[in-house]
Amino acid sequence: MSYEVGYRSRRVRERLIHRLKERGISNPQVLDAIREVPRHQFVDEAFAHRAYDDDVLPIGYEQTISQPYVVARMTEALLRQGLPQRVLEIGTGSGYQTAVLASIVQQVYTVERIGALIRRAQKRFSDLSILNVEMKLDDGYVGWEEKAPFDAIIVTAAPERVPTRLFNQLEMGGRMVVPVGPVRQEQQLLELIRTDEGFEQVDLGAVRFVPMRTGAC
Ligand code: SAH
Repeated sequence: MSYEVGYRSRRVRERLIHRLKERGISNPQVLDAIREVPRHQFVDEAFAHRAYDDDVLPIGYEQTISQPYVVARMTEALLRQGLPQRVLEIGTGSGYQTAVLASIVQQVYTVERIGALIRRAQKRFSDLSILNVEMKLDDGYVGWEEKAPFDAIIVTAAPERVPTRLFNQLEMGGRMVVPVGPVRQEQQLLELIRTDEGFEQVDLGAVRFVPMRTGAC
């Protein structure tokens, strides 16, 4: 008989799902995606035993992998009015949020400004046979004009203001989820829906993200 132990076990993952449900996450597609994507493969070996805690963890280069609750909440907001097909993500980081999205939607485009993080994420996608992700090393403020328009855009670093150029790459009726606010303080997580007149805004509460910087390296 063989037992799966520690962070690889079903039980540890189910505990996380239980916690997300307790905190109000209810979309079954989101819960299934978080259950299936192996978060321990998106952090360094040294943190693998904490991968299914509902916590932020370091991924190097002063960056972090988002907390599962925040990933779940942002993904749930993106899916609120039906399933988007083409999603743009800014801030690939570990690639975890990308992988969660890729297991739900048809095609994910993701932009990251740190080359070393892009390369690591790329390796993870190929190890996990995730094929519906295209990546670009660039400054996310410029978005990805060639691939626009997108049904949804998710920003996983915090700009001080709503990034207009990015917002304009949304399809009419499309939505952007973005934490907006001052560097190193709490930000407001906003859901912005593109309308003929501009946008509608839903406030999803306070969050804390690493700052969205300019330039790529
Ligand atoms: N979704 C990621 C979160 C990573 S943290 C995860 O779950 O792992 C935020 C990421 O945004 C960092 O990797 C950071 O380098 C990146 N970032 C910050 N400013 C950016 C910009 N202007 N363009 C693209 N990526 C940016």
